[in-house]
Amino acid sequence: MELWRIQTVRQVMAMFGLSFRKEFGQNFLTDPDVLAGIADAASPTADCTVLEIGAGIGTLTRELAARYRRVVALEIDRALIPVLGYTLADCPNVTVVNADVLATDLGALLAADFAAGPVAVCANLPYYITSPILMKLLESELPFSAVTVMVQKEFADRLCAAAGGKEYGAITVSAAYRGTTERLIRVPADRFVPAPKVDSAVVQVRLYGEKKPIVPRDEARFFRVVRSAFGQRRKTLVNALCAGFPELPKDRLTAAVTSVGLPPDVRGERLTVEQFARLSDALTDG
Ligand code: SAM
Repeated sequence: MELWRIQTVRQVMAMFGLSFRKEFGQNFLTDPDVLAGIADAASPTADCTVLEIGAGIGTLTRELAARYRRVVALEIDRALIPVLGYTLADCPNVTVVNADVLATDLGALLAADFAAGPVAVCANLPYYITSPILMKLLESELPFSAVTVMVQKEFADRLCAAAGGKEYGAITVSAAYRGTTERLIRVPADRFVPAPKVDSAVVQVRLYGEKKPIVPRDEARFFRVVRSAFGQRRKTLVNALCAGFPELPKDRLTAAVTSVGLPPDVRGERLTVEQFARLSDALTDG
């Protein structure tokens, strides 16, 4: 079944009396080379589980099922579940779960898979919640081997940005803390049905796992520092931290910033992952 053909997508949707739901970011991929590229990149080993977020009508799911031992595919839109039953009928290694990824306990969902071998994430993400989904994956301590996702081109630029630029943000620091990030494929808007307004790109974060080069003493605090630093972009780091840590006095925050060798008027976008880790340590008691 060549689900990537535009006529096939339209036929399948019509067969089930469905239309594309913009509020769920439903832009289905219609380029077989991009599909093969993203599916091939998901994992270097076939003996793995792939978590797909947003299965749509199963276009990418089928590609993943053909390459990897097992696929767990989440889809929020209940109306698409019977469609997936139809399009994935010949893929016994796929489990479809009707759920919102942001409300799902991924550790519980994949517990048996984590014990069985590597688990990779691969998705053509719904663009309206790209950032919360990626932050959820990066902040979780779940041992994913890699996260390979289609995102808006501007978001890919943010993920791969260098420190100091205007694209550098909490998502850049979080991704660089967890692993190495690479842009794999550029994808023009007309490769989707319906076509979104902007071009896209496939990016991959290969996670360090246990071998993280930078280890803050308190990871939850590290992420809180990073989020706070970019929560108030036009402010200095100290003022942004004041908003993010209302329980700490400003002189304590200023002292923490200067204790790691940074000027008191520095802005968050200037800090590397290592400097964020040292700042987080300076704000961690004990
Ligand atoms: N994987 C398909 C493809 O590549 O053609 C569809 C990708 S489409 C960009 C994103 C999909 O994510 C849609 O099917 C949408 O219904 C689903 N989705 C949106 N929000 C979601 C959420 N919070 N949890 C799970 N799936 C979601």
